[in-house]
Amino acid sequence: MSVFSATDFDRHEQVIFGSHGESGLRCIVAVHNTVRGPALGGCRMWDYASDDAALKDVLRLSRGMTYKAAVAGLPFGGGKAVIIGDPHSEKSEALLRAYGRFIDTLGGRYITAEDVGTTVADMDIVRQETGFATGLSGGAGDPSPATALGVYLGIRAAVEHALGRDSLAGIRIAVQGLGSVGYRLCRHLAEAGAELFVSDIRAGAMDKAVRDLHAQAVDPGEIHGLEVDVFAPCALGEAINDDTLGRLKAPIVAGAANNQLAEPRHGPELMRRGVLYAPDYVINAGGLIKVADEVTGHSPAMVAKKVEGIHQTLRQIFARAKAENAATSVIADKLAEERLLGPPPAFIAA
Ligand code: NAD
Repeated sequence: MSVFSATDFDRHEQVIFGSHGESGLRCIVAVHNTVRGPALGGCRMWDYASDDAALKDVLRLSRGMTYKAAVAGLPFGGGKAVIIGDPHSEKSEALLRAYGRFIDTLGGRYITAEDVGTTVADMDIVRQETGFATGLSGGAGDPSPATALGVYLGIRAAVEHALGRDSLAGIRIAVQGLGSVGYRLCRHLAEAGAELFVSDIRAGAMDKAVRDLHAQAVDPGEIHGLEVDVFAPCALGEAINDDTLGRLKAPIVAGAANNQLAEPRHGPELMRRGVLYAPDYVINAGGLIKVADEVTGHSPAMVAKKVEGIHQTLRQIFARAKAENAATSVIADKLAEERLLGPPPAFIAA
């Protein structure tokens, strides 16, 4: 396994490997950048095929957190953790406590939170061993509602820019993935009068959307290629890849999933095909805004203001991309990098 020469290393400040014999903990914490503040990012528990796969994932995800926090204007850097193991069969209180003790040894350079494979209840256990855990049941809790609201507002910005429409009434939207964020997003969209097409590999999730939101169920293999106005990836990463690009008919891609582009070159490729892409880490920052607020001790009003700000940030990115004839993904990266070069924002501890 190579670390410094890994493709995704990208000047990480720290990559720390942790293990604990009795509980079976094996984890990697990646601290990408702390220029704007301590690294904040979720802890993913996943049954990775190899240690290399776990390293690749944590490096990619932690870099994304640096960019997400910078564009959202938060006083945090980027970091992420992965625990190697099946969350359904290998997670235990002992393992979560060992993870918490490990996080505590980092002295606050990395603050952990829930992610795929971990829950708010898990973070409550981790918190018993370290003060550097957020998104707790007595605090920010589930970040999904804030993420869904931000994505909804982002879709509105994209529809305004690409279609010149300030209402979603009658706009056809294909949502891939009806989990914590995807389903809530669908509720916002249905209330705004959008026509919904949904897919999930869990049939029950689709039935609920059909019944309660009058959505049309679509086979998971068909959702990318529908004749719709917006394709909203809300399942796993890499929804835009060499295979799906050729089938895409929607003029807008805007959804919640992290790492939507399989390769960075897919951003310019979407632009070349006339598709407006809402960069993933910009449109899905609502959850991070929510858990960050628990650490900085601001207020629900501040969270609402920042989540609403996603609409305006995307408008600026779309306008700048047009003016510079560049892909929106490239402009979002530029914006984040400009902020990383600027003075760090004030960090107000709770
Ligand atoms: P989730 O696990 O609750 O939901 C994911 C859903 O996608 C599940 O219902 C799953 O069955 C479905 N799915 C998986 N593969 C699929 C496929 N091939 N086709 C159709 N459906 C499929 O996750 P979530 O919390 O809703 O997050 C969704 C995405 O948004 C993830 O990529 C996550 O990283 C990202 N995200 C979430 C948050 C948050 O606040 N939860 C914040 C930022 C980004």
